[in-house]
Amino acid sequence: MSRPHSELSEPGPLKKNALRVTPLGGLGDVGRNMTVFEHDGRLLIVDCGVLFPEDHHPGVDLILPDFESIRDRLDAVEALVLTHGHEDHIGATPYLLRERQDIPLVGSQLTLALLTPKLREHRLKETAQHVVKEGDRISFGPFHLEFVAVNHSIPDALAVAIRTGAGLVLHTGDFKMDQLPLDNRITDLNAFARLGDEGVDLFMVDSTNAEMPGFTVKEREITPVLDRVFHQSKNQRIIVACFASHVHRVQQVMDTAVAHKRKVAYVGRSMVRNMGVARDLGYLNVPPNTLVDAKELANFPPERTVLISTGSQGEPLSALSRIAQRNHNFVHIEENDTVVLASSLIPGNENAVYRVINGLSRWGANVVHRGNALVHVSGHASAGELLYCYNIVKPRNVLPVHGEIRHLRANADLARATGVPNDRVLIAEDGVVVDLADGKAKIVGKVPCGYVFVDGSSVGDVSETLLKDRRILGEEGFISVIVVVDSVSGKVAGGPEIHARGYAEDDTVFDDIKAPIVEAINAALREGVDDPYELQQTIRRVTGRWVSNRHRRRPMIIPVVVEA
Ligand SMILES: [Zn+2]
Repeated sequence: MSRPHSELSEPGPLKKNALRVTPLGGLGDVGRNMTVFEHDGRLLIVDCGVLFPEDHHPGVDLILPDFESIRDRLDAVEALVLTHGHEDHIGATPYLLRERQDIPLVGSQLTLALLTPKLREHRLKETAQHVVKEGDRISFGPFHLEFVAVNHSIPDALAVAIRTGAGLVLHTGDFKMDQLPLDNRITDLNAFARLGDEGVDLFMVDSTNAEMPGFTVKEREITPVLDRVFHQSKNQRIIVACFASHVHRVQQVMDTAVAHKRKVAYVGRSMVRNMGVARDLGYLNVPPNTLVDAKELANFPPERTVLISTGSQGEPLSALSRIAQRNHNFVHIEENDTVVLASSLIPGNENAVYRVINGLSRWGANVVHRGNALVHVSGHASAGELLYCYNIVKPRNVLPVHGEIRHLRANADLARATGVPNDRVLIAEDGVVVDLADGKAKIVGKVPCGYVFVDGSSVGDVSETLLKDRRILGEEGFISVIVVVDSVSGKVAGGPEIHARGYAEDDTVFDDIKAPIVEAINAALREGVDDPYELQQTIRRVTGRWVSNRHRRRPMIIPVVVEA
């Protein structure tokens, strides 16, 4: 490891024949993946995803990568390559296109098909879309791209090889190495090996599961578990919640439903939309007479139905959360219904998911989840698979991507273990700039790269300071103190009038603080202080100290001084 990233400054100009790699998201967090490549004065972007907010981002809908460092160079962008259709890889695309609408988009058929409705939602015009598949080669300016099939928790995912005058970069996107996937489309290790023989100068590798030893369990292992759950739930309704993009998971549920002579209905807007797209394009096989509209479910006995629902992460407005609260329009949870959460538990969502499980349990439902049955497998390569990749690709330099810092470090350890020299395994976080020059990758600086918050219709207006205010309002409450000052007599002439939120609704709560405030203001006036701002600071100080002593809290205090 070299210097801490916080000490880095903006990098100098890029050397001729060098390639600059700047991650603007996804290195340090699981989400908002985005990387900018620069060569010969031109830019190529790989992925443009969102990060979902956590409890300490009150009111925030989405978090975007920070486009600031490329904002004045968007004209130089040759293309945006999307590796696969997950939200954390495509979700911020409309926000980038808002800034320059005609950036050519490159991705597989399913990836671009999942993106299109989003562009429509944002009222963006259709831009040039280049549908590519594994084996395809296409060039944009000085970037010569080749696509490689990878297996992941969504069909049609691609790794991308980028050839420039500076060498060959292989970016895995998200991937795993399931050897028996449902669509028989495995990660193309032949291509990895061929590129390795050609010489991979920089290998950018998915780190999400680098801490997990061994190999990721194959998707098909879920089938017998689902089958058992269906057997045990013979006389009841079954609801399965999973990600609305996990086509293969939905396929397994659907196949199991058919085997058990049940009809299937989708619940949740994104599930209906995405599975419609997947079916139309041939990624999802829906047997005839299987699918019914959720509103028609009432026509079938519950034990003849399966609902496939969104909301596996406990999202409060999702179908499953509403079902758990018994306020869903047409799904009424009953005692002994079975609910399967066939999904991962994304860190940060634990409380929300447990709330849903408890809600369902309260009505007497049986809840099956990854904590008590093998109903989920990961979409990412574990350490064993990553070691294989390093040995096959034999990269000259390695940059772990996609993960929190601990995942990046674990991945870096794996690269080193296979013999990649220590100084050629780089740990970079968002905004850290890596130059590939003369076959060696080096950290050369850092560009500004903060969180960009989407809040309702505003993008980027919400700052960290504003969020801090929201957290204080939420956790500590609010007190306003109004004092009227007579500038002639130099004395308090009215008030203090105190209003508060988040404190006991008892008019006398703040009685004890009124006299000290008047005293402090009068004392300040006697000393000749007449600047309203300074008087307000006095009120803030006296009130803050009192609330802290009396209530052990640090509320937001809004002092107002009115001159009479
Ligand atoms: Zn993914």
